[in-house]
Amino acid sequence: LPNEFEAARPVLQTIEAAGYEAYFVGGSVRDTILGKAIHDVDIATSAYPNEIKGLFKRTVDTGIDHGTVMILDHGTGYETTTFRSESTYTDFRRPDQVTFVRSLQEDLKRRDFTINALAMREDGEVIDLFDGLTDLENHHIRAVGDPQERFHEDALRMMRAVRFASQLDFDIIPETEAAITDHAQLLAKIAVERTQVELQKMFTGKAPQRGLAVFMRTGLWQYCPDFAAHENDLQALSTQLQRGTSSDTATWTLLATKFGLTATAITPFLKHWKAANQMITAVQTASRLAQTLLTTAPNAWQLYQCGADLTPVANEVASILGAPDRATELTQQLQALPIQHKKELAATGKDLMQAGVQPGPQLGALLGDLEYQVVTGQLPNEQAALVAYATA
Ligand code: ATP
Ligand code: MG
Repeated sequence: LPNEFEAARPVLQTIEAAGYEAYFVGGSVRDTILGKAIHDVDIATSAYPNEIKGLFKRTVDTGIDHGTVMILDHGTGYETTTFRSESTYTDFRRPDQVTFVRSLQEDLKRRDFTINALAMREDGEVIDLFDGLTDLENHHIRAVGDPQERFHEDALRMMRAVRFASQLDFDIIPETEAAITDHAQLLAKIAVERTQVELQKMFTGKAPQRGLAVFMRTGLWQYCPDFAAHENDLQALSTQLQRGTSSDTATWTLLATKFGLTATAITPFLKHWKAANQMITAVQTASRLAQTLLTTAPNAWQLYQCGADLTPVANEVASILGAPDRATELTQQLQALPIQHKKELAATGKDLMQAGVQPGPQLGALLGDLEYQVVTGQLPNEQAALVAYATA
């Protein structure tokens, strides 16, 4: 058992000593069997939320309506969810009501894929009611039960399928893929924020070309914001991408650059995807340099404007799209810039005003010009030289 499970054993033992069942479930069981590092330990139990709260000193109601209570034990939080069955879905996104049940089988049955429907006892014994172990061994993603029903119940599962295909480098079995094709249009009913999370995980995964190929084949792409106009670009990406992007910023920069979007066009595109303003600004900046890198080596001013944080993103994106990888030289060029940031300029607005420059918009423009002169090596970054230039 991995350390995370060892540390959580007393929690399961406490629940069981009170007469209930408790298991490790979900991604942590799957990843442990695959020999991968696990991030969070999820527990499923037959105890009701109030029963769990009675057993532990410190708990937090993180999702009590859905049966989830966080147990705090020695500084670690364990999401503990009561077994539940999800009965009726009328809007293709979430169950109208959550029904708590006492049966592990009922709880595992409502999970999305067989590899995610494994449970593990406190002693390490695996409960495998849907042949998830065989699917793990064969690298197969298979819906639990009737795939048609499962995607009809919850359309987000289709995006989860392509995300896991990428993260795990697994195949979605034909019957499950066919059901995605049949239900792809239901993705339009899902909140964009939730689709965004899965899309991002697909791109940063180990084998994004695999997830992306299914995303294209099944038609899921057509029901994503602003993708309809870019079929060829998306299709091309599914062959160009040989490994995952290093960050979500890189993913959106890749898409914006591949689609040939200007800074002005990036704003509505990312707003439709519900991206944060900070992401929009970063993508505009990195995409601009990426487009330069696709045709030529950037000059000092272009590099300075992109900055040390986003230049590697621009380089990553340009090299995915076929430009030479300039990582080393760009780092050296950045380090060699006279200043890295406006605030390193040797003269401030105050200095210029003391030398007689009037406050107002022209002061800002003058400071901008000084910044350009220094970055491009035409003026030394010395206060006297900058003031002399400004007042000449
Ligand atoms: P990750 O490693 O990304 O956390 P995960 O498999 O743990 O992957 P979570 O979103 O954390 O994914 O969900 C935990 C578990 O809950 C899943 O393994 C699965 O059993 C179940 N689950 C999550 N979302 C759904 C869904 N939409 N439909 C059915 N079961 C789901
Ligand atoms: Mg998880």
